[in-house]
Amino acid sequence: PFQLSARALSLKPSATVAVTSRALELQRAGVDVLSMSVGEPDFDTPPHIKAAAIRAIEEGKTKYTAVSGIPELRESISAKFRRENGLEYAPDAVTVTSGGKQALFNAFFALLNPGDEVLIPAPYWVSYPEMVALTGAVPVAVPTAAESGFVLDPAELEARVTPRTRMIVLNSPGNPTGAVFPPGVLQAVAEVAQRRGLVIVTDEMYEHLVYDAEQVSIGRYAPKHTLTINGASKAYAMTGWRIGYAGGPREVIAAMNALQSQSTSNASSVSQYAALAALSQHGETARFIGEARQAYRERRDHIVAGLNALGLPTPTPQGAFYVMADTTRIHRDELEASRILLERARVAVVPGTDFGAPGQVRLSYATGLEQIEEVLRRIGEVVGTAG
Ligand code: PLP
Repeated sequence: PFQLSARALSLKPSATVAVTSRALELQRAGVDVLSMSVGEPDFDTPPHIKAAAIRAIEEGKTKYTAVSGIPELRESISAKFRRENGLEYAPDAVTVTSGGKQALFNAFFALLNPGDEVLIPAPYWVSYPEMVALTGAVPVAVPTAAESGFVLDPAELEARVTPRTRMIVLNSPGNPTGAVFPPGVLQAVAEVAQRRGLVIVTDEMYEHLVYDAEQVSIGRYAPKHTLTINGASKAYAMTGWRIGYAGGPREVIAAMNALQSQSTSNASSVSQYAALAALSQHGETARFIGEARQAYRERRDHIVAGLNALGLPTPTPQGAFYVMADTTRIHRDELEASRILLERARVAVVPGTDFGAPGQVRLSYATGLEQIEEVLRRIGEVVGTAG
């Protein structure tokens, strides 16, 4: 009697799943597979954040909150946007969600109609086109090149604007490329949005993980056209706490709250108090971020040099904790290359297939240096025999 809905059936089966389940199968069989596929910090959540959550539990702050989040947290997010991003979002122009994912989901459902076109720079994070398509809107990829460090060319973007285009999705620093779009590019994209009457949804989850580049929020250049998404997951090593947030025009935030009120209600109350500590005790949080950033930079330099030395061309990303390696030397098909790396090198990576990145695989370097060393050694053995 159960007939899956057209929406459920429309979700693209992930090419990643096959590789991931095979990796788990090998691990269960006792094979020491090294995972370079995870999308989360390997650091523990900082102690001052955990302590705030424990306090919240003990003080009984375990009930429903306002759908949009506790007022103190919205105030501290508003202050954070001003302090760190130069953005003016009043506390009632801010909402708290269950992870960055829900903020994006609610934003797309609040803003998109069937048939609307949404420009997404590729390689992209897999969830953007899937979420956009769920609304009935049409994701349109805007290719970027490895040679230019996967930085978006605003002219390429504008060339894809049609009368149906409604939105631009930006993700800088980006998953999976680690690209950070320079201020000049963001300014040009902001001009395109203003000239063509488009909205910008900018996902700044990785804003603190930048190495040699300057991270700027595009909302500074096109405040009336921009909805800014962020969250606690990547910056404060809080992936499991499920806290995201958005700042934008009040009527858009109100529509997102309405969607949330009829689906999940407030984000976890305890997690909100934890996020409040992360944002309000910002001196301590900044120390943690500084240390994490230093560790990531060292790992990045190591893995980029290593992969290039093995003949797998890998641009140096300026942000996040991912690299995209060209694996055509192992196999021209990235799914096959991922399989070879898993079966022969016992290294799990994510094929670029779902990211719109043919011939490439994504490696996360949110893991210790020793593991990176060993991964390079194992891949070296395979490349040696394949090359
Ligand atoms: N945006 C990007 C670009 C991501 O890579 C991720 C997580 O992988 C998210 C959003 C989702 O973050 P959260 O875990 O807070 O939902």
